[in-house]
Amino acid sequence: MKIAIAGTGYVGLVTAACLADKGHDVTCVDVNEEKIRLLNEGIVPIYEPGLDSLIQRNGVRLRFTTNDVEAYQRAEVIMIAVGTPPQPDGSVRLDDVWGALRRIAGAAERDCLVVIKSTVPVGTGDEAARFLAENGRPEVKFDVVSNPEFLSQGTAVRDTLQAPRIVLGVDSDRAERVMKELYAPFALPYVVTDRRSAEMIKYAANVFLALKISYINEIANVCELVGADIQAVAEGIGMDPRIGRRFLRAGVGYGGSCLPKDANALYSLAASHGYSLKTVWAAIDVNEKQKWKLLDKARLHIGDFRNRTVAVLGAAFKPGTDDVRESPALANIERLIAEGADVRVWDPAALGHVSRRFGDAVVCCETIEEAIRGADVCFIFTEWPAVLQFDLHCYKTLMKTPLVVDGRNCYDPKAAEAAGLIYESIGRPVGH
Ligand code: NAD
Repeated sequence: MKIAIAGTGYVGLVTAACLADKGHDVTCVDVNEEKIRLLNEGIVPIYEPGLDSLIQRNGVRLRFTTNDVEAYQRAEVIMIAVGTPPQPDGSVRLDDVWGALRRIAGAAERDCLVVIKSTVPVGTGDEAARFLAENGRPEVKFDVVSNPEFLSQGTAVRDTLQAPRIVLGVDSDRAERVMKELYAPFALPYVVTDRRSAEMIKYAANVFLALKISYINEIANVCELVGADIQAVAEGIGMDPRIGRRFLRAGVGYGGSCLPKDANALYSLAASHGYSLKTVWAAIDVNEKQKWKLLDKARLHIGDFRNRTVAVLGAAFKPGTDDVRESPALANIERLIAEGADVRVWDPAALGHVSRRFGDAVVCCETIEEAIRGADVCFIFTEWPAVLQFDLHCYKTLMKTPLVVDGRNCYDPKAAEAAGLIYESIGRPVGH
């Protein structure tokens, strides 16, 4: 099938590469000329494992352009995968979605499906259908589909090729038939419903994960008070299939471009209809407080951070990605700088974003050793494999004071103490 995809971010680019891999002919369009220039030079502008080789392998079926007409004019399916970032009041900024819709209305010359992959508030698909009917060429019939995306950054290619389900929100038999034809090579199960329910499924799923994380973080906080170990507790509850093991890792809270934004958006959507989503509000509130736990723990040992050398391991919101959007690490780095610390940051993928954001206010380090040398305290914000595999004795030999405050429970507390560290983690008794 002839497909156009608006937006070459994490979702658009991965979707494009996977659809091309299944034999479709895909044109990616982006308003960001630099991204398209890089892609046309064979450089993938985001870090996502497996994506480079997938794009390379399917080069003949993938095109990249900034030209809307070239992309949309003859496409059978047009997917919208542009960003829908949060606004200060928690609601969603839909300017890029409307920007893409305007361009599609102006350029599409044949009947087509317009598939919204971006996460959008319930009702957006209906509004898009009205807009296209009123503003597209009169002879063109647009079918609008809600096809929310569930991939996770860091495992996006695998998540797309092996998704547990494909959600299709459709309002015509034709839309359902074409979508099933599009995804037929993936051989995955479908949930077919109306557009509003499909839009709601995306928010309800993501925010459930946020609830799960905030719940386990609160249980971790209670574990610290009562002398229980969150790792054992999480394992014990996660083995119950009604609960499940995933998203039960205690830490410094969820980040990234999706969970914080979607939790706020769902809360704000419900509030705009006069409903107060108390569980979601609690998850947001717990997450905000959890973000600062590591600094509080360190203060108990070293007082304040003025003129302290502080190592920060990990800036990305999770391993396997260079994305620092809403990363707890960044908020903490900002606070550490404000409190007068000399901050040294290591991350294997996201240092570019760190130096663009903080400039000379931090030192970016190529190795963990370089970051921790002479440090008074080391904070762990991302459980990169290099951190998990790092020789614990090196903290002791390289740091000025071997105080390691671990927001991702990377190490066994007994091993850390045996290696001579003053080791703090989340939800595990000190001196355990
Ligand atoms: P992103 O910010 O990485 O990429 C968005 C791209 O869209 C940018 O390159 C931007 O230049 C481009 N763009 C903006 N306006 C455009 C237009 N009119 N035409 C063409 N391109 C345009 O975004 P992302 O992380 O891929 O997320 C996209 C959507 O998918 C969001 O709604 C997000 O909530 C949702 N989502 C993201 C993830 C994830 O893990 N990142 C997972 C599931 C769903």
